[in-house]
Amino acid sequence: MLGGELLTGMTVDGAINGRGEDTVGGVLTDLLQICRDMGGFVAKLNDWRLIQYVAYDPEIMKIAIPQLVFGADVTVFLQTFAEDIVQEKSTIRGIVVRNKGGRHLLTASNFVDASGDGDLCAMAGAEMLSVERGEKPQPMSMMFRMANVETDALLSYVRQNPECVAVGESDAIRGGRTDREITEEIYRQGQPCVFFKGDGPLLGDAIHRGDMFPTALIMIQPTSDARREVCINATRVTLDEPTRADNMATALRVLSGQVFQCARFLRQSVPGFGSASISGMSPRIGIRETRRVVGDYMLTEDDVLQARKRDDGVAKGCHHVDIHQDGTGQIRIPVADGGSYDIPLGSLLPKGIDNVVIAGRCLSASREAQGSARVMGSCMAMGQAAGSLTAMAASQSNHSKLRDIPVQRLRHTLRDQGAILEGTR
Ligand SMILES: Cc1cc2nc3c(=O)[nH]c(=O)nc-3n(C[C@H](O)[C@H](O)[C@H](O)COP(=O)(O)OP(=O)(O)OC[C@H]3O[C@@H](n4cnc5c(N)ncnc54)[C@H](O)[C@@H]3O)c2cc1C
Repeated sequence: MLGGELLTGMTVDGAINGRGEDTVGGVLTDLLQICRDMGGFVAKLNDWRLIQYVAYDPEIMKIAIPQLVFGADVTVFLQTFAEDIVQEKSTIRGIVVRNKGGRHLLTASNFVDASGDGDLCAMAGAEMLSVERGEKPQPMSMMFRMANVETDALLSYVRQNPECVAVGESDAIRGGRTDREITEEIYRQGQPCVFFKGDGPLLGDAIHRGDMFPTALIMIQPTSDARREVCINATRVTLDEPTRADNMATALRVLSGQVFQCARFLRQSVPGFGSASISGMSPRIGIRETRRVVGDYMLTEDDVLQARKRDDGVAKGCHHVDIHQDGTGQIRIPVADGGSYDIPLGSLLPKGIDNVVIAGRCLSASREAQGSARVMGSCMAMGQAAGSLTAMAASQSNHSKLRDIPVQRLRHTLRDQGAILEGTR
């Protein structure tokens, strides 16, 4: 399947800031329009906690992505893994991929590393960062979906029990409301956007009794009105080096058990879930954090939290610093005034490598900044910038080097494509 994490059912975060302004356009807008044209569920919603986001049906997304990609005349190799590179000093000449047909060399003048883990940059010997010694990477999780959820029963329960849910963690979202007033807003919104908190009575007591595993939140978000379906993000296991195959196997064993346990808890203890059943599980284990590339610029926590704007910005982020921890821990720090920040081109260019541009969660950023920019809205905006930069370089008669393309020309191209680079708080 094409789509990476976009197929699991989670919402697109980082595309609408806490003030309700769109911060990502371009390909994301096109993709959502294809989903709408097919009658797929798409909804811009407020989580009444920290952010606003776009919910969509991942099954329709599975159809929309191939439409978009093949419509753009892209040659796709499925089931194909990049396992090696051919390199000449600081230039990558080709990547060696393996699939059922054997090993193949793909050559190009420039490459985009959108592997999440920064595989290409790591193979090219770029300086990579991971968590500091003594720290653990963010936990891995397995997203799953449940259908036949009675939204009204769920929201009525939330309205009567505001102490069970996480609400109003950002001033921009809270807007001076009490928790009870916010749960009224959740009810009025009419969609199952509910975050049961691990230190609240409902989930906290279940963890204490052993009915649930320790977790910060059970995050419930809609994926389809027709199927009365929600996506649930709750499972977690923390293991060193999530890129290791044996650790992934351990994660699968633990997480699939947690999926069953969480679904059973919801069915037994949460109004609205009595007749619900598991309707889908993510096709792969979700990995939040592995390697980061050291680039020409490293995005900082301050850039994120102060909603810093830059004239070399090529993508935007607006998600809070969001670092999941072991057990019930999670760091969540909102961006100032519900605003958005700019991701500069330098954060996408690996230091010391001439012809690679990065897109996605392996960008050059501090751990805290990555905790914000790792979400899908920002990753898609980075992808658009990275793809456009390589296309612009390829269209020059002398196949320009990536760093020779003036950033203002790239920004001009991105604006023409409907990307959002300015105009937001
Ligand atoms: C459990 C979980 C919950 C999350 N919740 C949300 C949320 O609610 N909203 C949100 O916006 N974000 C969320 N995120 C964050 C977000 O989903 C990811 O950080 C983001 O999708 C990363 O995008 P990416 O393009 O960098 O990587 P991916 O989406 O992982 O894409 C990388 C692609 O590269 C391929 N690939 C990797 N290595 C190779 C290789 N060597 N050769 C060939 N192909 C390769 C992979 O198969 C994959 O298709 C969550 C993440 C997790 C794990």
